[in-house]
Amino acid sequence: MTPELLIVGSGIMGAAVAAEVRRLRPHTRITMVEAGPLLGTVPAQHLHDVAEESERASYNANVAAGVQSMYVGAATAGHFSDRASAAPGLYAFGALGHRSDAMPAAASAWNVGGMGSRWTAACPTPWGSEIPTFISPAEWADDYDRTRRLLRVTTDRFGPTPAGSAVIDALTDAFGAVSAPGRGPQIMPMAVSGSSAGGLRRTDPGRIFPEIVAGSELFELIPDALARRILVDGDRARGVEIADPTGATRVVEASAVVVCADALRSPQLLFASGIRPPALGRYLNEHAFLTGRVFAEPGTLGVGGVPIPRPGEWMSDSLWLPHSGSAQPFHWQVSVGPLYSDDLTDAVAMAVSISVYVPTTVRAESRIEFSDTETDAAGMPLAHIVYEYTDEDLALIERAREQQQRAFEAVGGADALADTLLLPPGSSLHYSGTVRMGAADDGTSVTDPEGRVWGVQGLYAAGNGVLPTAVVANVTPAGTVTAVRAGRSVAAALGE
Ligand SMILES: Cc1cc2nc3c(=O)[nH]c(=O)nc-3n(C[C@H](O)[C@H](O)[C@H](O)COP(=O)(O)OP(=O)(O)OC[C@H]3O[C@@H](n4cnc5c(N)ncnc54)[C@H](O)[C@@H]3O)c2cc1C
Repeated sequence: MTPELLIVGSGIMGAAVAAEVRRLRPHTRITMVEAGPLLGTVPAQHLHDVAEESERASYNANVAAGVQSMYVGAATAGHFSDRASAAPGLYAFGALGHRSDAMPAAASAWNVGGMGSRWTAACPTPWGSEIPTFISPAEWADDYDRTRRLLRVTTDRFGPTPAGSAVIDALTDAFGAVSAPGRGPQIMPMAVSGSSAGGLRRTDPGRIFPEIVAGSELFELIPDALARRILVDGDRARGVEIADPTGATRVVEASAVVVCADALRSPQLLFASGIRPPALGRYLNEHAFLTGRVFAEPGTLGVGGVPIPRPGEWMSDSLWLPHSGSAQPFHWQVSVGPLYSDDLTDAVAMAVSISVYVPTTVRAESRIEFSDTETDAAGMPLAHIVYEYTDEDLALIERAREQQQRAFEAVGGADALADTLLLPPGSSLHYSGTVRMGAADDGTSVTDPEGRVWGVQGLYAAGNGVLPTAVVANVTPAGTVTAVRAGRSVAAALGE
């Protein structure tokens, strides 16, 4: 098949672009190239839902340990020595040789489905300062409606149980007064669907774009295909050179190329292709991540006992305290569930995870630089991450710690038993800004508001890296909006 559209990356963003183009221009021939191998037997499936018992059990054991380990311990794939031997998985960015000491917990996926095979699926609705000012509110609302549908966002699968309601009430007492209208403590929107009878399913790339799983005459997925460079004739992209794990290369030509290779590697591919606008790799942003957990006495909260999650789940309630502007600038991710005995047989206490995401300053100095001479273990330009918190960021983190202590006491009482930890940069896995969009080609952006790379016809970027703002909350919902926009633009550009 000769594709009209070539998508680099098989994660949530690549799938969302494909789904939007298919919806708007059903006959489009689409090829998706993915550097990593298949993970499991069903392409791009979430590990929570895979048929392979060992994979599913290992994923569930990791998440059962709580929010903290889901993120810090997420990059479990070990050392990446070369492509031929690399197993599918989530690798610490440094494992490929990159200089990432400034973001020691940065990680990237190397498998069909990308991070979409592992994500927790929390989908807080972007709001306020997270939304680029140069996109009209009405347009953003329409794009977000598409995003919610693609991600299958629900608000009724994780609570509220009586215990969850009690936690919402306690947090409302503490923070209701500083919350904007409608933005008090509430249920977290989740990209989770399915019934209790059939089990809850995470939305993964194969659910967003079913042809990844079912195949079709109009779609081809090529795993183990590293896009080494985008081929440009004059000012127009004409395709991509891909390499298999032996290093053998071939060219895939297409009228449109959309790079959905995550916020760390989308700029890497553009750099490798000689496409190097001044903003490339700059404005790297990530909210700081203050994790925490408090133990609560069900009786004190007025509930009968420790809440027991649905079978196959580790939390009974997924809750949210949205950011509300300067009076309450933090995103709160709260989950309620049991703390089990060491042998996992008895629920011995009620544990409430209370994580606080702290927005950090968007600035050009925060960046990912690439080398012209050195390569990573996959043969792509070696990266060096330059990133530090400003004094303003550090002050906000301290304020967040105080507020988190208030939350612990609100839920667990004045003598609450709680722990808190500021996770190292990179831990959130929510990176943005490195191929950011802008209203004008003025040197501070890489793409226009539709994801079209300035100066290169037919070339687009989509995903978290395209977001220009300080994203306070989990980044995937806002990132998916950029995929929706790019997909629409590609469909229009391809014409009838
Ligand atoms: C444990 C965990 C929990 C998370 N929880 C949440 C959450 O609750 N809410 C939330 O909003 N977000 C969450 N995230 C983040 C979320 O998963 C990501 O924001 C999202 O999946 C990013 O999608 P993507 O398609 O941009 O990137 P990825 O999923 O990283 O996919 C990019 C793909 O591109 C491929 N690629 C890279 N370079 C090349 C190349 N040169 N050639 C070919 N292919 C290439 C990669 O192999 C990868 O598969 C979580 C992530 C993890 C790991």
